[in-house]
Amino acid sequence: MKNLREPLIFGAVIVVLAIVAAISLWKRPDASFQVLEHRPQAVMGTATRLLVVPPPGDVPRGEATLSSAERELRRVEALMSVRLDISEISRLNQAAAGDFVPLSTDSVAVLMAARQAHDATHGAFDVTLGPLIKLWREGAVNGVEPAAERLQAARDSSKWSLLQIRDDGAVKAGDGLQVDLGGIAKGYAIDRGIAAMRNLGMRGGVVDVGGDVRAFGTFDGERGWPVDILDPFSPDGRLGRFSLRDKAVCTSGDYARTIKIRGAKFSHIIDPRSLRPAAFVPSVSVIADTAMEADAWATAMSVLGPEEGFALLPPELDALMVVGTEGDYRVLATEGFARYLTERPAHLEVIERAP
Ligand code: ADP
Ligand code: MG
Repeated sequence: MKNLREPLIFGAVIVVLAIVAAISLWKRPDASFQVLEHRPQAVMGTATRLLVVPPPGDVPRGEATLSSAERELRRVEALMSVRLDISEISRLNQAAAGDFVPLSTDSVAVLMAARQAHDATHGAFDVTLGPLIKLWREGAVNGVEPAAERLQAARDSSKWSLLQIRDDGAVKAGDGLQVDLGGIAKGYAIDRGIAAMRNLGMRGGVVDVGGDVRAFGTFDGERGWPVDILDPFSPDGRLGRFSLRDKAVCTSGDYARTIKIRGAKFSHIIDPRSLRPAAFVPSVSVIADTAMEADAWATAMSVLGPEEGFALLPPELDALMVVGTEGDYRVLATEGFARYLTERPAHLEVIERAP
């Protein structure tokens, strides 16, 4: 489930999306479609599930592919996690201004994508909030909200204008610049896992890391992969179900992970405008071609809220957002998202988008 290793970070441990658990038991019209499953332990502090459909009769190749997808997830985590002091991104964070920090093509690609997402979301998605994310985590540990002056100082010392990305590394223009790829690296890792499955000739596959999912092909020769939209307010219920094929869907949900300071619950997502935890959006799921894009946009939409969020969402992306509180909530979705649904949430409201 979600990462519970940090003290005082808790919440209802709910993933807001999940690949239907019994998929390998579903009836398949074509018996040559065999689904193999692997659940690697302790990847990115959350529950991970890998599924592949090997070429007919080639179970060994399927098993080898599952291992290779797992290796990709672990490789990306080792490069980008800020919880590992020796990761590339931690080395960048520790580096002094002016020093060139060599980076893998993976880290450079994610930093570039993060900068693009920053611009596209009008600054709502901002990986240079690293020091602010740390201050709020410390606040949860100490039970004290960080002081406004410290938050402002953290912002002034860490912003995009202080980071120069090159083809093979990066240079900071201030010692205090720190990036946190927690809102995008998981998506990138999922994309690498899917690439491994495709490169090794699978007919279909799924990478599900804590409810962030990308799928390709089919599990039975006909249907897309069924995904449950779990109810953010009740761990056993589901709001609906949809079918995923050659797309990714990522969710940001405040009910999945919150920080608590003196009894008050806060989001683990920081609003760069207020420098404070974002106002509660119980859950938002974004569908995109890549998990990296879906991941970044889901985080951004929890910052932006329904109005600005849906207005800024690029037309080729789709989203479903739960707003309100338990007992008094609304489910908003783009028309495209509604089309993927095989089981519609009750009271679904379809958002009109500018043509
Ligand atoms: P989860 O990790 O629970 O799946 P998200 O994908 O929404 O959720 O990512 C949240 C993480 O992103 C935070 O834990 C933090 O590391 C980072 N983060 C927080 N606020 C922002 C922001 N405004 N922009 C980019 N990343 C953020
Ligand atoms: Mg995200």
